[in-house]
Amino acid sequence: MMGTGVRWRRDEFEPAQVCENGHMVNSSTESRPALNKRFCSDCGAPTLTECPACGTDIEGTHHYESNLARAHYARSHPLSYCHECGAAYPWTERALQAAREAAQIYLSPEDAETVEKNLPDVAHQTARTTIAAHLIQRAFSKGGGAAWEIFKAAAAVFATEEAKSIFTHGIPH
Ligand SMILES: [Zn+2]
Ligand SMILES: [Zn+2]
Repeated sequence: MMGTGVRWRRDEFEPAQVCENGHMVNSSTESRPALNKRFCSDCGAPTLTECPACGTDIEGTHHYESNLARAHYARSHPLSYCHECGAAYPWTERALQAAREAAQIYLSPEDAETVEKNLPDVAHQTARTTIAAHLIQRAFSKGGGAAWEIFKAAAAVFATEEAKSIFTHGIPH
C-alpha cells in the first residue's frame, strides 16, 4: 500500500511474527511494524520471526500482482514446518508432545507405543500416512472420547491434510 515506506516486489513473502505456541502475532512485520510484540498477548510466550533451526524467515503475508494491481494474502495461521529446512516449528513440536502425552496418560503402554511409532508418518506425508493414521485412531478407540479430542486438537497443528481427514471422517472406503 502507499505510504507504508515499504515497497514490495511482485511476488514476495513478508516475515511473520509467531509466538512459541503458534499464535500469529503479526503476519506483516515489515509493512506494519507497530503490531510487532516481544511476547504474545494471547498466551505470554516469546515471539519469533525466524526458524530456530536454520534462521529462515517464517512466512507471513504474501504480496503479489493480480490483474496488474497489487494484492496480498495475510496468513492467519503459521505453517507447521520450515519450508527451507523441514524442521518442525516450536508450536508443532509442542503439539506433537501433547499428542504423545495424551497417549501415555490415557492408553495402555502397548497402544501408546503404537501412537509413538506412527506419529512421524502422520506428521509428514509418506507412503504410510493412511495406515499410520488408522493405527493411531484404533489405538485411541480404547482411550475414551476425551483422549481422542485432545489428540485431534494437537493433530490439527502437526498432521498432514490426509491424516486430519482420516481423524475426522474415518478411513476412506
Ligand atoms: Zn501465544
Ligand atoms: Zn528452517
